[in-house]
Amino acid sequence: MPPSHCDNFHVIIVGAGLCGLLIAQGLKKHGISFSIYEKESTAGRSRDWGMAYFWSADYLPYLLPEHLVERLPEVQVDPFYKAQPVESMTVTNGLDGSAIKVVPSPGGRRVGRKAIRKLFAEGIDIKYDHKLASISYPAKDNVVATFTNGAIVNGNLLIGSDGGGSAVRRSLLGPLAEPNRLPLYMVNFNARYRNPKHAVFIRSGLRHFVDHGVHPKGMFFLMTLQSVPDPKKPETWSFQITITWPPEMSPNKDSPEPPHTLKDLQELTKDWHSPKREALQWLGDAEAIVTDGFFGQNGEHSTTAGFDTDADPWQVVIPSDRVSVWIPEPWDNHDGRTTLVGDAAHAMTFHRGQGLNNCIRDAREVVTRMIRHVDGEISLSDAVAEYESEMLDRGAAEVRTSMEQSLKCHNWDTFQDSPVMKIGGNPIRAVENEDWKKILAEQAQAA
Ligand SMILES: Cc1cc2nc3c(=O)[nH]c(=O)nc-3n(C[C@H](O)[C@H](O)[C@H](O)COP(=O)(O)OP(=O)(O)OC[C@H]3O[C@@H](n4cnc5c(N)ncnc54)[C@H](O)[C@@H]3O)c2cc1C
Repeated sequence: MPPSHCDNFHVIIVGAGLCGLLIAQGLKKHGISFSIYEKESTAGRSRDWGMAYFWSADYLPYLLPEHLVERLPEVQVDPFYKAQPVESMTVTNGLDGSAIKVVPSPGGRRVGRKAIRKLFAEGIDIKYDHKLASISYPAKDNVVATFTNGAIVNGNLLIGSDGGGSAVRRSLLGPLAEPNRLPLYMVNFNARYRNPKHAVFIRSGLRHFVDHGVHPKGMFFLMTLQSVPDPKKPETWSFQITITWPPEMSPNKDSPEPPHTLKDLQELTKDWHSPKREALQWLGDAEAIVTDGFFGQNGEHSTTAGFDTDADPWQVVIPSDRVSVWIPEPWDNHDGRTTLVGDAAHAMTFHRGQGLNNCIRDAREVVTRMIRHVDGEISLSDAVAEYESEMLDRGAAEVRTSMEQSLKCHNWDTFQDSPVMKIGGNPIRAVENEDWKKILAEQAQAA
């Protein structure tokens, strides 16, 4: 443990998502006192999807203890997959499945959200059932978090890692904290095929790391493996299905607004290449089940639902997601006593796969400065100001780029000129800034 010049220094982390947990791991590793609070009652209640991290991979050993770094392969969507030093992000033509662009991604790994959260939570004492109610600043150098269960916690710095709809952000910025919704419809769920032949067929046609499917008609469809509990039993595999489209493309003209039925989705994807087309066709044949984020015909929420009931499977309702962004702008951080990280600080769309990468980068930036603060090198207000200055610039640029990507990838002509086509998955600042270019060049060489 490093010598501390601030013996009573304590960090309050609100939100035990990936960013909050990584900061907790980093602070723990460097002997800095913290406590972490989560509004949900257990980690298992979070939704599951796959994420690719790549340019941020090198920061993980700095934040995690060695034994967790060694276990990172376990949280891949397919834990049996031997990851390549350089994975490839592939952009495919939705009509015929041909690769339009292949972007090398050194250090890239595709991980399951639930699995990686579970790993990052190891050894961390998360206080569940703690939903933030308010923040106050009763004295200099002091911040107090009050939770809806009545708990009151004192600290020196409060970090809001409470996601895209952040309550901490609302407390700092009021109405300016509201995310903006983009004009796109989205479904994001996982499916498992009981017929092993279907699962094998679908898997054989999907790229492992990132399969960024764009259809010339102006539609986006990402499908990848989500989990492989038993490699020899294809009926146990699950697949992530994430589709976005502009409202004017909605197939059901009588009911174009969400929620959408399986029939709507089948109609939307009938001219997609194989196996994405079949993946939707086979969903309603009573041999498939949706394993996450499911709403039944009566709108009740469930995490697992079978279609082998008397109900018409095609009328099953799939829950909708919003495609929203929040572009960071400076806030009053109360002399370095409150700050934001992850989606709370820069809510971006997923179409360029940058949210988690930026969470990991934020965690590194915050932990580095907290170490310097407890070592007496820098005041807390300067440490937080320094972090925010780097993050606000990077975060705002990334959110804007993500918006551009999301809007451009729903029009074939503009898609050709979109950030993914021009700069792949590189952080936007990498293509502008010499230091970043150096880091990326080193990573590529090491890989
Ligand atoms: C379909 C999809 C695909 C994606 N793919 C990629 C990808 O390939 N690559 C990539 O880099 N990124 C990707 N992302 C983005 C990535 O998932 C997010 O950026 C990342 O998970 C955000 O983590 P977070 O910890 O900031 O927020 P969250 O995961 O939202 O965690 C916030 C936590 O705070 C808790 N909380 C909320 N409010 C309160 C409160 N008031 N009090 C206490 N706790 C609270 C929540 O319950 C939650 O546990 C994708 C996102 C989606 C939706």
